[in-house]
Amino acid sequence: MLDLNKEVQFVKGVGPNRVKLLNKLNIFTLKDLITYFPRNHEDRSIAKKIADCEDGETVLIKATALTKITEIRARRLTIYRLVVSDDSSSCVITWYNQKYLKDKFKVGENYTFFGKIENKGGTFEMKSPVFDEDGVDKNTGKIVPIYPLTYNLSQNVLRKIIEAGINEVYGNLEENLPEYIIDKYKLIDINDAYKYIHFPASNSDFIKAKNRLVFEELLALQLALFRLKEGQKFDAKGIKFDANVKMQDVIDTLPFTLTNAQKRVLDEINTDMEKDTAMNRLLQGDVGSGKTVVSIIAAYKAVRSGYQVAIMAPTAILADQHLKNFKKMLGNFGITCELLVSSVTKKNKEIILDKLKNGEIDILIGTHALLEENVVFKNLGLVVTDEQHRFGVKQRATIVAKGNNPDVIVMSATPIPRTLALILYGDLDISIIDELPPNRKKIETYAVGKDMEDRITAFVKKLIGEGRQAYIVCPLVEDSDDLDLKSVTALAEKYKTEVYSEYRVEYLHGKMKAKEKDDIMSKFKDGDIDILISTTVIEVGVDVPNASIMIIENAERFGLAQLHQLRGRVGRGEYKSYCILKNNGHSKVCKERMKVMCQTNDGFVISEKDLELRGSGDFFGTAQHGVPELKIANLFENISELKEIQVLASKIIEDDPSLEQEKNYRLRKLIDEKFTSRIEI
Ligand code: ADP
Ligand code: MG
Repeated sequence: MLDLNKEVQFVKGVGPNRVKLLNKLNIFTLKDLITYFPRNHEDRSIAKKIADCEDGETVLIKATALTKITEIRARRLTIYRLVVSDDSSSCVITWYNQKYLKDKFKVGENYTFFGKIENKGGTFEMKSPVFDEDGVDKNTGKIVPIYPLTYNLSQNVLRKIIEAGINEVYGNLEENLPEYIIDKYKLIDINDAYKYIHFPASNSDFIKAKNRLVFEELLALQLALFRLKEGQKFDAKGIKFDANVKMQDVIDTLPFTLTNAQKRVLDEINTDMEKDTAMNRLLQGDVGSGKTVVSIIAAYKAVRSGYQVAIMAPTAILADQHLKNFKKMLGNFGITCELLVSSVTKKNKEIILDKLKNGEIDILIGTHALLEENVVFKNLGLVVTDEQHRFGVKQRATIVAKGNNPDVIVMSATPIPRTLALILYGDLDISIIDELPPNRKKIETYAVGKDMEDRITAFVKKLIGEGRQAYIVCPLVEDSDDLDLKSVTALAEKYKTEVYSEYRVEYLHGKMKAKEKDDIMSKFKDGDIDILISTTVIEVGVDVPNASIMIIENAERFGLAQLHQLRGRVGRGEYKSYCILKNNGHSKVCKERMKVMCQTNDGFVISEKDLELRGSGDFFGTAQHGVPELKIANLFENISELKEIQVLASKIIEDDPSLEQEKNYRLRKLIDEKFTSRIEI
C-alpha cells in the first residue's frame, strides 16, 4: 500500500541534511514532495544551430569536439576550455574548476550542450553548460522541470529527489475523481498527471497533466465551499426577527425613493432575517449604489425586534460618516447609535462599553476597535461589515462570535465577477445592487500625459471659482529617491506655495494621527478646504458631494478597481464631475487600462477588464479572504475553467448536498483530505 504521508526522509536519495533543506520548502511528506510543482520547464530536447543562437539565450546545441580540453590557470581559478562546432559555426565552451572534465571529451565525437550562450558579433561562447555524450539523455534531450529552490539545494539534486518520489508513487496513486467526471471532461489518469506535471515527454503531456490537476483542485475547493454553505443552513439555528417590524416604516421616511435593485435586495434580506437560520449575505454594489441605506433599514428591523447591531467599517473616517447617516435616519425612531474607534478617550470608551453591555446602545458603529475582547454586547443580532476588502474571514468570525449566531451582512464595493465571488465569498449568499440611483451623471474621465499640466491647473481653478472642491491623489506619502512618483507632502508644498497659492490647500495621509486626519476631513466636508491632496486613504467611502474633480497622479500605479473606487469620491452630488488620470505609462496594457476607465463607469465591467488585463496576482486578496492556498490552479488564469467547474459543482451539490451517494464517494474523500479543515477557521 502506498503511504503518501510517509516522511520524506524515507524517499530514495534523501539523507538527514537534505531533509532539513526540503523542510525549508515545506516538504515533509512524500505527498508534499510530489505536489511540489515546478515553477516552469526548460525544453532541452530541441537543438539549435550555433549560428542562429542569440546573445544571452539559453539553448541546446549539438556539436562535435574540435579540440581536447585545454586548461588555463589564472590565480585560484582553473578554466577548462573546449572548442566545438556544428555545420553552422563554432563555439567556445568553458567551465571553471571542474577538474573531472579534463579527459571527458574526445576530438571528433558528438555531444549535446545546454546552457546560456553569448553571441558577440558571431563569436560564440557558452559557459558552464550541462552536457551529454551523443545518444545519452541524462542532462539534455528532454523537458526538465525547474523548481523554486532554497539555499544549498540545487536543481539537479531536488529534481532527482522528486523523480525518486514520482517513481515510488507512479502506478500506485488511487484515482480521486469519479469515473463519470473523468469521462465527461476527458481528464487523464491521476498517475500520469503527477508524472507529467514534473517530467513531461512533450508539451502536450504537460498541458494535459496541468489541466487535470487544476480541474481537481478547483473542483475540490468549490465543492467544499458549496457544501459548507449548505451545511450552515442546516446547523446554524439563528435569530428569527420579528415579522411585524416593517422595513417600510423607515423607507417611508427617506428623502428619496429606493431603486428597484435596493428594493429587491431588501426583500432578500428581510426574508433571510425572518427565517430562523442565520443569514450570511454578501451585499455587492458599485460605489454610490446605496448600500449604506440598505444596511440602515436592516438595522432598523433588527433593533425593533429587540436586538443590537454592530457596524464595522475599515477606517475611522468612514465609521464616523456611517454614524451620521444612521443617526440621521434612525434618530427619529428613538434608536441610539454610538461610535467606537481607537481615538475615543479611555473614559468615554468605558461609558460606551458599559452601556453596550446593558443594552442601552442599539447600534454600535466602529472600526477594528469593535473586535477587542472587552467589547461585549447584551444581545447582538445583526453584524454588518463594510469590507472594501479589508476584513478577512477571521475578523468577521471574531465579531460574529460576540453574538449568538447573529445575521451577517458583508458589504463590498469592489465589484467582483460572480465567478470569483463564488470562491472569495463562497460561504455567503450573494445580493447584488446593480443599479445606481437615478440622475447620477457619468463622471467624465480623461487620461493625460505630462504636457497637460497647465490646462488642468486652469480647469481646477475654474471649478473652484464656481464653488466646487478638488481631490488630488498621489501614490506616495513622502518623496522617495528611487521612484519618479508624486508624493503627497512634496506636492502639497509646491501647490501651497506656487501653483495654488491663492487657494486653501491641505493634505491627508495614513501616517497622520487619527485626530489630524479627522480634522482635515471635516474641514473638507464643511467646504473650508478647496484642494485636498491625499493618498488612497480617501478611497474608502468618503462622501463630499461638493467635490467635483479628482486628479490622480501616476494613475498607472493603481489597479483599475482602485481607480474606480477613487473616482467614486466625485460625482456624488448635483454637479457635473471630472476625473483626470495623469500617467506616465507607455505600455500597451497601461493604455488599454486607461481607455477602460475613460469609457465606462460600470464597476463590474471594469473589474472584468482588470482581470483580463492583469491575468494573475493576488489582487483581490485571496489569502486574506481565507481561501486556502492553491498549489497549481490560479483563480485568474483559470477563470474559464472555474466557470465550467462551478456549474458542475453546483449541480453535484444540488443533487447530493452532503456527497453521500456512491458515485460521489471519491469527491467526498477528496475534499475532506484537501480543504475542509482549513476552510473552517
Ligand atoms: P455606497 O455605500 O453603496 O457607496 P451610499 O450608501 O453611500 O453608497 O449612497 C451614496 C449616496 O446616495 C448617499 O448620499 C445616499 O444617501 C444616496 N442614495 C442612496 N440610495 C438612493 C436612492 N435610491 N436615491 C437617491 N439617492 C440615494
Ligand atoms: Mg459605502
